[in-house]
Amino acid sequence: MRLIYDLNFSEIASLMVEWGEPVYRAHQIWNGLYRQYWNSPERFTNIPTSLRNLLAENLEFKALALATTLNSADGQTVKSLFKLQDGKFIEAVLMRYEKRNTLCISSQAGCAMGCVFCATGQMGFKRNLSSGEIVAQVMYYSLLLREEDNVVTNVVLMGMGEPFNNYDNTLGAIDRLNDPKGYNFGARRFTISTVGLIPAIRRFTAEKRQINLAISLHAAEDALRTSMLPVNKRYPIDDLLTACRDYIAITGRRITFEWALINEVNDTPEQAIMLAKKLKGMLCHVNTIPLNPSPGYSGQATTRERAEKFKQILDGYGIPCTIRLRRGIDIMAGCGQLVVKNGG
Ligand code: SAH
Ligand code: SF4
Repeated sequence: MRLIYDLNFSEIASLMVEWGEPVYRAHQIWNGLYRQYWNSPERFTNIPTSLRNLLAENLEFKALALATTLNSADGQTVKSLFKLQDGKFIEAVLMRYEKRNTLCISSQAGCAMGCVFCATGQMGFKRNLSSGEIVAQVMYYSLLLREEDNVVTNVVLMGMGEPFNNYDNTLGAIDRLNDPKGYNFGARRFTISTVGLIPAIRRFTAEKRQINLAISLHAAEDALRTSMLPVNKRYPIDDLLTACRDYIAITGRRITFEWALINEVNDTPEQAIMLAKKLKGMLCHVNTIPLNPSPGYSGQATTRERAEKFKQILDGYGIPCTIRLRRGIDIMAGCGQLVVKNGG
């Protein structure tokens, strides 16, 4: 059955017409879903039982069945494993930090990009998520947070999967959540992270969206980057950075480059200098994070000293750089650790 979260407002409105219902019912349903966070037909007590029954018979409300929840020892990070309707699994993570409640959600079950240090890459590709399955992850946590009078403040597409390898559904989900008459979540509070699929970056650029863009770079020379991110063979660094420069020129927006610091691999002064030279003059920011362990990769995290040295070099070239905290490591909810055993 089709998920109700797969429908945008006009599709719900057409359904009402088809069912011989007044169009204002569509507004009530939209409001119920995205303002009240009602997640089953029975909760729509403001519409007639006959229409509630039609909804229940024709549309699926349960996109995600919670399989397990893990809380980090510090209580700041919650990771949930969800079973999809077809039995595949995905994960989503809530990270609380000061006033922020950042949600890290999945765009695919598994991932086809095969980055060697990423647990999701190691499990391989299962399937794309529908836009409704992406939306449902946000609605799940919105309801959870509402119970404590709290809200989701940021959404990052940094869970399982490569969002630009599922472009239409990912952007469709963001557009649905962005609707001012519905969930009303500002485009600037979303971040899409991509491994660097150039055609999709170009499309995204042409659409001039307000969504933040992060690029997983991780290496400043092709041989090294290809050994870590196989997709670099197809979309090498210089072409990727040209697409990034065009993005910045056309949208006026800053790009974030992500860099998982791996001891003696890409945390060397040589890499830092090479990176600084390549990024010179770009409106950008480098976000480093010590590598998170994953079962299929033997590389080790950088040390504090090496990370600081790396940052210092970039600072010296005027490239803003932060060293991100590792969060949720004890529950394997750090970046690239989202993996489901057996893959669903
Ligand atoms: N597929 C997208 C988004 C999901 S991965 C992408 O690759 O950008 C989110 C981020 O986690 C990416 O920057 C990715 O490179 C990074 N990552 C993957 N595995 C990691 C690991 N073991 N340690 C640290 N970061 C990792
Ligand atoms: Fe896929 Fe991103 Fe993991 Fe690479 S890092 S395998 S693109 S999820």
